[in-house]
Amino acid sequence: MLNFVLFGPPGAGKGTQSQKLIDRYQLIHISTGDLFRDHISKQTSLGKQVSALIADGQLVPDAITIAMLEEEVEKNPGTKGFIFDGFPRTVAQAAALDTFLESKGSAITAVIALDVDQEELTKRIAERQKLTNRVDDQADKLQKRIEEYFNKTIHVLPYYEAQHKLSKVNGIGDIDAIFAELCKVVDQF
Ligand code: ADP
Repeated sequence: MLNFVLFGPPGAGKGTQSQKLIDRYQLIHISTGDLFRDHISKQTSLGKQVSALIADGQLVPDAITIAMLEEEVEKNPGTKGFIFDGFPRTVAQAAALDTFLESKGSAITAVIALDVDQEELTKRIAERQKLTNRVDDQADKLQKRIEEYFNKTIHVLPYYEAQHKLSKVNGIGDIDAIFAELCKVVDQF
């Protein structure tokens, strides 16, 4: 299997680029943010459990997130592979994902980190807020998400660097030019 992690701070373009990647490579896209939003809109018990945390810009506890992710992977037996978007966001999640994939005789192929500076991120999310009205895109909640990213999520990078699986791609500029850079990484496998 080909298992890619698309990594980056809020607003880095993970959703946009994931969509293009799954179209080209026929991989299954798993976005934990999308899955949580789906649970919230359907008012499932999981949705009710996590909605306040998400609206506040905090991370959902690892145990809940990992269980949801594993369930989603299990729903797609026989696939060519996955693009993980928004997961792992903590080192504990990364380690759990390794163990889980190993139990399936598989592994993470590569981690592609989209590099975008903070000024550009804030600008993009302000634009997105106008279009989608996501409560967690409001300025104070966004600040919380950026803090969560720098406190917890950034440590995932050295975890994968130590495994020699990390590639960084410039995430600023033309969407198709960024996509071309991502494809260069994917095409190595
Ligand atoms: P972003 O646009 O900030 O990258 P996402 O759509 O991926 O955000 O996620 C939205 C929210 O869902 C996060 O702020 C967090 O509350 C929750 N969430 C998503 N993925 C995870 C995860 N892997 N671990 C914990 N919480 C998560």
